[in-house]
Amino acid sequence: MFAKILIANRGEIALRIIRACKEMGIATVAVHSEPDRGAMHVRLADESVCIGPAPAAKSYLNIPALIAACEITGADAVHPGYGFLSENAKFAEIVDAHGYTFIGPRPEHIRIMGDKISAKQAVREAGIPVVPGSDGGVSTVEEAMAAAEHIGFPVLIKAAAGGGGRGMKVAKAADSLAEAVATAQSEAAAAFGDGTVYMERYLQTPRHIELQVIADAHGNVCHLGERDCSLQRRHQKVLEEAPSPVIDAVSRAKIGAVVVEAVQRIGYLGVGTIEFLYENGEFFFIEMNTRLQVEHPVTEAITGIDLVREQIRIAAGLPLSFTQDEVRFEGHAIECRINAENPRTFTPSPGRVTDFHAPGGLGVRLDSAVYAGYSIPPYYDSLIGKLIVHGRDRDEAIARMCRSLGEMVVGGIETTIPLFQDLLTDPDFRAGTYDIHWLERWMAKG
Ligand code: ADP
Repeated sequence: MFAKILIANRGEIALRIIRACKEMGIATVAVHSEPDRGAMHVRLADESVCIGPAPAAKSYLNIPALIAACEITGADAVHPGYGFLSENAKFAEIVDAHGYTFIGPRPEHIRIMGDKISAKQAVREAGIPVVPGSDGGVSTVEEAMAAAEHIGFPVLIKAAAGGGGRGMKVAKAADSLAEAVATAQSEAAAAFGDGTVYMERYLQTPRHIELQVIADAHGNVCHLGERDCSLQRRHQKVLEEAPSPVIDAVSRAKIGAVVVEAVQRIGYLGVGTIEFLYENGEFFFIEMNTRLQVEHPVTEAITGIDLVREQIRIAAGLPLSFTQDEVRFEGHAIECRINAENPRTFTPSPGRVTDFHAPGGLGVRLDSAVYAGYSIPPYYDSLIGKLIVHGRDRDEAIARMCRSLGEMVVGGIETTIPLFQDLLTDPDFRAGTYDIHWLERWMAKG
């Protein structure tokens, strides 16, 4: 087992990793940018190293500085968290080349899944159903038109290098196709430095349902059930729950077996998430994330499995600490992503947190790096905490979330807490009958 792990991240996820390390008796190294000097992850880690100024490109994405930090502190392994360098195959290779262990999948799998065109091809070959679409990228209007005729309108143009819901454009009919392709290409080029786009059928009323998978280096692969992440704004997740209100034990076992077999065939290592759109009882793959997800705690809540601990064990060459038969899904969990934003306009609201009170009680978990007196810097994403509750059933989880949101105090800045307080009382949410477009319609109603 590793003696010391360097965490190449910040915020709540850095804390999450430090917590797992402490429970495993592993020393931790925090890295931080200049304005993050007083951040909670720096305070909780055993050691810390400043890796550069505020802009992420000069600090949290600064590979030479991260490698130097490993050298200075004598770390054995690097946990990338999510975001930043977590899905950067080159970083994984560089970490390994310097003799440290990258806690994550093999670089080749990060690379294949990082390009959505090659990802779709790889999983389709491994037996996973995909969203009908173009075979590969489309570069000209003629190619796009030919693909659209085959797929059927409306179509969605997506960036091959996409992420964070960026570079996606819908074309409802042939007359808007040329413009949608051109806009998607230029947005993709600007956001990812790669203008390659591809096309998919635009599903009208799907849910976003993703399967958590985990594989060790001994050939053991398990799935840990699904998360329903259909409540989205601008294709970004806002609230997640597990299990999904629309998936029963039979369909869970069925899709679970399909993904486990595919992951085995691909030879994947570590934790991963296979994302699907789910419509009329059918699953359609959209992408695979080769890292820990923001919403992993809802899976931890219903399975009792510490995913970060398993990640570290896998990277150290140990087998999974459970078998598929031992995985039990108990009760219901919900996560609200609490952002430092105006709850209606979503304008970022960085600044000094004057008061802070964390909710507590049975079945309540708050993953947050905020404390009273902390100044939220304007340079990074606006997620300031994840409130996760677990109940014996969905109704109990909803009641517990409402109660916990009411207890939580974050003074001095605006947060999305009031949005969740409204959302959780909505009859459609309570009935669980929402799809991926529901939240935006609900917000438009005001
Ligand atoms: P990103 O990597 O940018 O997050 P994804 O491929 O994971 O992109 O898709 C993000 C979200 O966009 C999905 O959860 C869904 O809401 C929407 N989306 C993606 N593909 C489709 C599609 N073919 N039809 C309808 N909505 C889609």
